[in-house]
Amino acid sequence: MTTISTSENDPGRGPPVAPLRTEPDRNCPLCPRLAGFRAEARAREPEWFNSPVPSFGDPDGRLLIVGLAPGLQGANRTGRPFTADFAGDLLYATLIEYGFARGVYRARPDDGLTLVDCRISNAVRCVPPQNKPLPAEINTCRTFLSATIATMPNLRAIVALGRVAHESALKTLGLRSAAAPFAHGAIHQAGALKLYDSYHCSRYNTNTRVLTPEMFRSVFAKVKADLGR
Ligand code: SF4
Repeated sequence: MTTISTSENDPGRGPPVAPLRTEPDRNCPLCPRLAGFRAEARAREPEWFNSPVPSFGDPDGRLLIVGLAPGLQGANRTGRPFTADFAGDLLYATLIEYGFARGVYRARPDDGLTLVDCRISNAVRCVPPQNKPLPAEINTCRTFLSATIATMPNLRAIVALGRVAHESALKTLGLRSAAAPFAHGAIHQAGALKLYDSYHCSRYNTNTRVLTPEMFRSVFAKVKADLGR
């Protein structure tokens, strides 16, 4: 597992190390194509969030769920991962069912829903055109995913929703793709941490029955059992 120092002014460790940045600036310029897409959306829909979507949930949680990227009219509009995205309906219902969320999901960030022992983030924080980030954008935004993972002290389980999240998490954890191929239901060990794979709970995957609610629930049932909850 990748270990990234987060500390401090310890004279025995050399010069001070800047704290890891888990959240990008509102105007993060690192992916020019996505920054341009974001600017267009701000001009068109000034009431929308239209910024890198921050992680949601408990930094001290043991579970991190990693999605792909905000949907244009979902998380990009509301500012909370998966909120008002089609995929959020199944994700939040499942999290509530397995005790990783509390409250009622109403597809809006002020619905009072809280995550329990759990956090949600995305491999890419800005909405990409056609929901398709480029490889360079995934690589660039990994700095924030890596920092998020490195600053969760109790993290034991990561659920990767889809192949892009899986690959990005693998690179962060220092695992090779050949040794840990993506497959729905697969579990990969990285030190004390387990990476669980699931097909993404997207509209396309659920409508085509590539992913059924039962298949999705089985992943979280396994995580819950492994965490002893
Ligand atoms: S996708 Fe990530 S790295 Fe790229 S501009 Fe957005 S926040 Fe910055």
